[in-house]
Amino acid sequence: MQPVSNIFPLLPEPKKIVITFHQKPDADAMGSALGLYHFLIQFGHQVNVISPTNWAGFLSWMPACKKVLDYEIQTAKANDILKAAEWIFCLDFNTMERAKKMADVLMLHPGVKILIDHHQQPQTEAFTFGISDVTKSSTAEMVYDFIIASGYSEKINNEVAECLYAGVMTDTGSFRFTSTSGNVHRMVADLKDRGLEHSHIHEQLFDNFLESRFRFFGHVLLNRMEVMYEYNTALIAIPQSDLIKFNVKTGDTEGLVNFPLSIHGIKLACIIIDRGDERKSSFRSKGGFDVNTFARKYFNGGGHFNAAGGRNTEPLDEVIRKFKSAIKENREQLTSYQF
Ligand code: 5GP
Ligand code: MN
Repeated sequence: MQPVSNIFPLLPEPKKIVITFHQKPDADAMGSALGLYHFLIQFGHQVNVISPTNWAGFLSWMPACKKVLDYEIQTAKANDILKAAEWIFCLDFNTMERAKKMADVLMLHPGVKILIDHHQQPQTEAFTFGISDVTKSSTAEMVYDFIIASGYSEKINNEVAECLYAGVMTDTGSFRFTSTSGNVHRMVADLKDRGLEHSHIHEQLFDNFLESRFRFFGHVLLNRMEVMYEYNTALIAIPQSDLIKFNVKTGDTEGLVNFPLSIHGIKLACIIIDRGDERKSSFRSKGGFDVNTFARKYFNGGGHFNAAGGRNTEPLDEVIRKFKSAIKENREQLTSYQF
C-alpha cells in the first residue's frame, strides 16, 4: 500500500470514482464518505457513494445522502457503476468482508483502491494507496487531514464541513473518548471558522428519534440487562421478538451499549442482538480491557481497543453461553482493573 499522498497530483484529472464503507454505516462511515464526495465533485470527478447495506434514518439529513446507493437493493446499477470505476475509496473499514455482499466485487476489482481507515489490523495488501492510523479518532478526521495535506483546503465548503463534523463528533462520543486529540479540536475550530453550525448537527443526530425507540430501551434495560459485578461486566441480549414488537429499525440500537457501560464498576459492556440472519454483538470497555482482541478471538469480529463488534451464526442462547465462558476465561484481566 503506497502512501495516500501519492494520489494528490492526480486529483485534478477528472475520473470515475466510487466511495464505499462498512456495512450498516454509522455517522463516521457515512459522514466521511459524503464529506469526501463533496470535496471530490469540485474537481469535476463523477463520484458515486455506494453503501453495502441500508443505513439508519438519522443519517438522511446529510447533504447528498439521498444519492447514496444501497448495494443490496440497487445491485445491478451499483455493479455497473463499480465496473466503470477507476478509483474506489474504501472508508472506515479494515477488511473487505466488512463490505458484506460487495466484498468479492471489491476484492476482484482491477481499479485503484484507496483505504482511509482507523481500525486495527488492516488488510493493507488489498489496497493500492492508503492510510491506516489507529490513533485517529475517526475516518472523518482522516479525510479532513487528507484534504488539508492535498493543498485544496479552500474546497472545504459547508457540505464537507457538516459531514466531517458528524463523523468526528459521533466517533469521539461527543469529544469524550481518549482519541479526542488536540488535532480533533483544531479541526473542529477550523470548521467553525469556515462557518459550520454545529448545534444543528447534534439536533439532527440526537433529537430525532421516534418514541418507540425509548420504549424499547426502557424494556431492554428493565428486562434484558444482566449485570455481573463479579466480572465487572454487563450484558444485554435481545431476542428477535423484541425487535419486532418495538418495530426496531436499523440504527435504533446505536448507543444502547453505553448504558450498561456507564454503571459504576462496569468495565466491559456487551449487547448481543438476534437480527434473524445473524447474532450481532457490540463490545465497549473502559480502560485496559482490549475488546478488539476479545471480539476477534471469540466473536469473528474486531474494531478498536475500547469499541468493537462481532457476529455469530449460532443461536442467541449459544452466543450468550459463549460470552459467559469468554468472560470467565478473562476474569483476571476484567477484575484487576483499577478505578
Ligand atoms: P459497533 O459495536 O458500533 O457495531 O462497532 C464498534 C466498532 O467495531 C466499529 O468501529 C466497527 O467498525 C467495528 N466492528 C463492528 N462489528 C465488526 C465486525 O464484525 N468485524 C470487525 N472487524 N469490526 C467490527
Ligand atoms: Mn469510524
